[in-house]
Amino acid sequence: MELKPPPTVGPPLWLLAELTYRCPLHCVFCYNPVDYATQADELDTEGWLRVLHEGRALGAVQCGFSGGEPLLRDDLEVLVAEARKLGYYTNLLTSGVGLTAARAEALKAAGLDHVQLSFQDSTREVNDFLSHTKTFALKYQVAGLIKAQGWPMVMNVVIHRLNIDHIDRIIAMADELGAEYLELANTQYYSWALENREHLLPTAAQLRQAEATTARWREQLGERMRLFFVAPDYHDGRPKKCVNGWGSMFLTVAPDGTALPCHTARMLPGLAFPNVREHSLRHIWYESEGFNRYRGTGWMKEPCSSCDQREQDLGGCRCQAYMLAQDPAAADPVCPKSPHHGVVAQALARAEQPGGGVVERPLVFRDAATSRRLAQAAPPG
Ligand code: SF4
Ligand code: SF4
Repeated sequence: MELKPPPTVGPPLWLLAELTYRCPLHCVFCYNPVDYATQADELDTEGWLRVLHEGRALGAVQCGFSGGEPLLRDDLEVLVAEARKLGYYTNLLTSGVGLTAARAEALKAAGLDHVQLSFQDSTREVNDFLSHTKTFALKYQVAGLIKAQGWPMVMNVVIHRLNIDHIDRIIAMADELGAEYLELANTQYYSWALENREHLLPTAAQLRQAEATTARWREQLGERMRLFFVAPDYHDGRPKKCVNGWGSMFLTVAPDGTALPCHTARMLPGLAFPNVREHSLRHIWYESEGFNRYRGTGWMKEPCSSCDQREQDLGGCRCQAYMLAQDPAAADPVCPKSPHHGVVAQALARAEQPGGGVVERPLVFRDAATSRRLAQAAPPG
């Protein structure tokens, strides 16, 4: 089968500024790199301002400020104001820690368009357990501040075995708090979530129940709240078109200035990702090997290269292929056609056993000491 040449590359539409990996929370499913503690370097304000200018000149229209906890940067208001001035639609992705009334007011004055607030659960016990902090009450207060500033109320809850049975209460909580959008994001098993996969992977019955509950609420809520249920690729058996296509829409800049096609791509071996301190974003987006390696379909091998789904899912996630098949150019193992699909099938079978099967390892909470320890270890698979 003849492979297509690389596609014509359009501009990035989304710039994600990961301002810091520092975070007061210790979530067991944290999407930051497992070795984040070895990457403590952060761009200074001037560095981020340059990134914002170059991103907008390239054509990016949306700018997300995330982390870690972006509110730990005391120049956040400066960066938001500049992004707004440049014409970006700006959003802040936050745990809520650090969003005081004064900062909310300052961010509103800076022109921040949208805040996404994460909760870990609808109960204080599970929320505080999963984040290893006492933050549940604070998140409630922050939700009030978001409403008071007139921002759209956007909530995000990562869903997994330990909270999926609370979906009914989670949606009710979002409704009580006046959320306009609620994203129920089933856990993706990267980074810290992969370390904790045996604890977090739900059963098929749990998932079906959660989907039915969400559908019922959707009907009941009508226009009042939009509910997004992000289906898990493990159970679906359908690879996800990773970041809507490698180097096609998203440009992430990590705290130290490393530019990435998605926030976990740095784990991939044999691929040097450029740094904004050394290269312009234009060069990075159009010319760098890191952004070109997995663009389009030309890099694929079998079974993807001859598959009729290859334009739809682009072979799934490169990081998942590396983590589960130790080959970043392999078909994503969530795909039943992958020769490595057995790894996913085994994990799903184990999830069906009482208690998720024999869990030999305790839950791993994200913290700096654990990060440094895991950085020494081989990647899990
Ligand atoms: S997932 Fe949790 S620990 Fe990780 S950055 Fe977000 S709030 Fe912090
Ligand atoms: S074989 Fe590759 S392209 Fe085909 S469905 Fe599976 S992951 Fe997608």
